[in-house]
Amino acid sequence: MTEQKPNSLCPLCAQPNQCAIAAGQAAANCWCMTTTISEEAKEKANDANRCICPACGREPAA
Ligand SMILES: [Zn+2]
Repeated sequence: MTEQKPNSLCPLCAQPNQCAIAAGQAAANCWCMTTTISEEAKEKANDANRCICPACGREPAA
């Protein structure tokens, strides 16, 4: 199965979100488990079924 699932793409920039779950791996392996996702980005994404990508989800660097 090399088909790209829709939930593997970032709803904000449509780039691969590198989600472990979408890649068929354990959720504990996902980058989002070790990073604080920006609340603003989550609001903008407005999609509970799709993860956002590290670039969009990262808290803006102060
Ligand atoms: Zn993104």
